[in-house]
Amino acid sequence: MKLFYKTLIIFLPLTILIACDQTGEPEKVNLKETLAETETKAIIDTVENTITSLPKPEQAKASQFGPVSAGDDKYNIDKTPGSMLYDMPQQVMDNVWSAIGALAPITYANSGHNNNLSFVITSDGVLVVNAGANYLLAKALHDEIKKLTEQPVKYVVLENGQIHASLGSNYWLEQGATVIAHEDAATEIKENKFANLERLKRTIKEKADKTVVALPGETFKDKRVIEMGGVRFELLHLGPTHSPGDIVVWLPQKNLTISGDMAFHQRMLPLFEHTDTAGWIQTWDKFAALDAKYVIPGHGEPTNMKEVTLYTKDYLSYLRGKVGVLLESGASLQDAYKIDQSAYMHLPTSEFLAKRNAAQVFQMMEFE
Ligand SMILES: [Zn+2]
Repeated sequence: MKLFYKTLIIFLPLTILIACDQTGEPEKVNLKETLAETETKAIIDTVENTITSLPKPEQAKASQFGPVSAGDDKYNIDKTPGSMLYDMPQQVMDNVWSAIGALAPITYANSGHNNNLSFVITSDGVLVVNAGANYLLAKALHDEIKKLTEQPVKYVVLENGQIHASLGSNYWLEQGATVIAHEDAATEIKENKFANLERLKRTIKEKADKTVVALPGETFKDKRVIEMGGVRFELLHLGPTHSPGDIVVWLPQKNLTISGDMAFHQRMLPLFEHTDTAGWIQTWDKFAALDAKYVIPGHGEPTNMKEVTLYTKDYLSYLRGKVGVLLESGASLQDAYKIDQSAYMHLPTSEFLAKRNAAQVFQMMEFE
């Protein structure tokens, strides 16, 4: 089965390239539209060709669609028992480290470490991306940072206002760090503070001790630049993506983006009611324009643009393309559940997200 996915990885970008070439150079004003349509069609064709050659997926079980189930054994694992971290930080490049989170929902076993917690060490302080899901997890990350450097953590940047990005903030504030987020992320944190803390406590129980909801000390709208120890960090809100106030951290000197939820791979991305899938695809162009060589995504191992494009933008384009066809033919929500996503069903979390995502796109596109 792996071979098919490899084929997909190799041919998908190629098809897009060919498709783009064939569009020639139309009027500037039409270029984007033409590319988007051609691209979507190419993506659908390629994914469908892959699906045809895949073994028939098992009959979908009723339980595949429903609330996120964190009870599944395969998600109740921890790579580093004894630490709140799901996995220890790994070095991505000089002075850049990331503790890669579980490709799973938040579970008791992973302590809420189900996204990437990254940090950059400079000669004048450390910048951390994501506060972590709770106080004790943030402390565990800090303990690992202290083993690598004596530099203090000066900044903690939140990729958005979600639990796993933000609820460890009160630990970092106690350490004297400046916590920075997009203004919409700060609003999210404020509005969901009781619900999020409740959800966290219900799931990770006593591991949520000492966690209280704290607001970021600093917010911004489009861009915030930090120069520290000769390293330039550009905190960029590029447009609507996965959640309100999503930002990417761009390190031009290192040709690296720490992308947050802009980019996923190795697990299926979740679509929420507030996710603007059309906006996300458009924002992707600005993200791609950074032309980063290295990507630490919001979820999954450090990788490159080609890989995250396949599992983020192309997945969104595929779903929207398929739903678009359904809507034109007057099909119902039930038909959206049947959209063939088998090219993506090898991804963890797909068993409960695939149908939910299709339904989400259907319901959104009905009103576009
Ligand atoms: Zn995330």
